[in-house]
Amino acid sequence: MLNIVISGAPGSGKGTQSDIIVKEYGLVHISTGDMLRAEIKAGTANGKAAESLIAEGKLVPDDMIISMLRDQVKGNPDARGFIFDGFPRTVAQAEALDSMLGEIGSKVSCMLCMDVDHDLLIERLLNRGKTSGRADDNLETIRKRLDVYNTQTLPVIKFYTESGRCRHAANNGTVDECFAQVKRIIDSSL
Ligand code: AMP
Repeated sequence: MLNIVISGAPGSGKGTQSDIIVKEYGLVHISTGDMLRAEIKAGTANGKAAESLIAEGKLVPDDMIISMLRDQVKGNPDARGFIFDGFPRTVAQAEALDSMLGEIGSKVSCMLCMDVDHDLLIERLLNRGKTSGRADDNLETIRKRLDVYNTQTLPVIKFYTESGRCRHAANNGTVDECFAQVKRIIDSSL
């Protein structure tokens, strides 16, 4: 299996690169943010619990996310591999992912970390907010999400770096320029 974790600050292009990776490598795309937005739209108990946290730019609890993730992995037994987008965002989630994939005899092939300059992240998120309809694409919440990323998600990058699985791709330029780097990284971990 080819299992890729794509990480990076909000607005770093994880979703855009994931869409291209899915087409190129035939992976199942699991975006925890998209899953949560679907739960909110459907009015489920998970959606109700997550809605205000997302609007405030905070993370939803690990146990909720991990159990949603487990359902997705178990629900795709024939997958050639997965791309995990926006997950793991805490070290507890990263450890849970390792054991979940271990249970099916697999592992994380590599973690792609998308690096984008801070001011460009804010500019991209504000632009996205004009059309995304997302409650969290406004300046106040963007700042909180970037704080949460620095405090809770940077340790995840460290976790993968220390286990030799983290690879960086710069994404200050075009989508194609970024994908050229991403493709080199993925092909070298096949
Ligand atoms: P995203 O679409 O990945 O930017 O996620 C939007 C929001 O959903 C985040 O700001 C969090 O509130 C929540 N969220 C998404 N993925 C996770 C996760 N792995 N752990 C906790 N909260 C998450």
